[in-house]
Amino acid sequence: MSTDRLNIDGHTRIFGLIGNPVGHTMSPVIHNTLAAYYGHNLIYGAFPVADDPVKAVEGAYALGIGGLNVTVPHKSAVIPALVETDDFAFKIGAVNTLVRMDEKGGYKGYNTDMPGLYRAMCQEDITIAGETVVILGAGGAARAVAMMTASKGAVRVSVLNRTVSKAEAIVKEITALYPDCQMCAGSIYDLHDLPEEKFLCIQATSTGMSPHADQAVIEDGAFYERIHTGFDLVYNPYDTKFMQLVRQAGGKAYNGLNMLLYQGVVAYELWNDMQVGEEAVSLVRRRLKEEMGL
Ligand code: NAP
Repeated sequence: MSTDRLNIDGHTRIFGLIGNPVGHTMSPVIHNTLAAYYGHNLIYGAFPVADDPVKAVEGAYALGIGGLNVTVPHKSAVIPALVETDDFAFKIGAVNTLVRMDEKGGYKGYNTDMPGLYRAMCQEDITIAGETVVILGAGGAARAVAMMTASKGAVRVSVLNRTVSKAEAIVKEITALYPDCQMCAGSIYDLHDLPEEKFLCIQATSTGMSPHADQAVIEDGAFYERIHTGFDLVYNPYDTKFMQLVRQAGGKAYNGLNMLLYQGVVAYELWNDMQVGEEAVSLVRRRLKEEMGL
């Protein structure tokens, strides 16, 4: 047993995650590592909130909580509790980071998942401007990915999903916002209408997550021959079946761990009005991998 005491005192700022469930979260690793690295007097914990996220946000403000992350299933439900919503988060219709604004008497909502994905992609030199993109999935994450790729100048974005009507709804909505981006919806079971050229494929379904690591949402090898770069939002397992299929067909493949890392980094920067440096990012990446037993 360690006899070191935690450096928590009457000035310690408290941050945390609300969602349900939250037991599996790696966000405390990100934020507590950054706080220790920078010597910031803050702690980050997880608050399971089963229902009434609006009350939870109001209660957090009353308690002086400095900021919150919001995860499934509350990313849209908390919006009515906010005094302001960032433009991009408003368009996506989902927030994952709340920043305390004492002068306005509440929290402002941001979506750091997409800047996080964008930074993760930039770090790997993956370009979006001028690119042809295929997105697998049409859930909350896929919708935000479609918005991000259209806003960053992709020329063509195809959204393929098991439930085609959900892909169609995303395409309709994003075409209205970004008419210059050529968008189309399709089924993961009908791959005849894919772009002619090789494309960037972003895997945004929940298929292949541990403990179903042996599954990929599309198993057809011919599909993978069309992919020059595959990005899986899933990070557990570290090497997903989707990534393996992309590599077997000659493409480059990345998992979602850097996206997770950078969405946390962007939130930390918003809360502390600072830029997180690359040395700190590398330390957090190491800690996340240790946490995953890698
Ligand atoms: P969601 O809203 O529940 O959407 C799930 C998506 O997966 C839907 O498109 C669904 O298709 C599809 N799907 C589920 N089971 C399927 C199956 N057996 N066959 C075919 N398609 C299936 O989830 P989400 O919030 O968008 O998250 C999607 C994934 O992204 C999750 O794995 C999540 O962990 C990951 N994610 C990662 C990060 C990160 O930081 N790395 C951030 C956000 C999300 P239907 O519409 O037909 O049901």
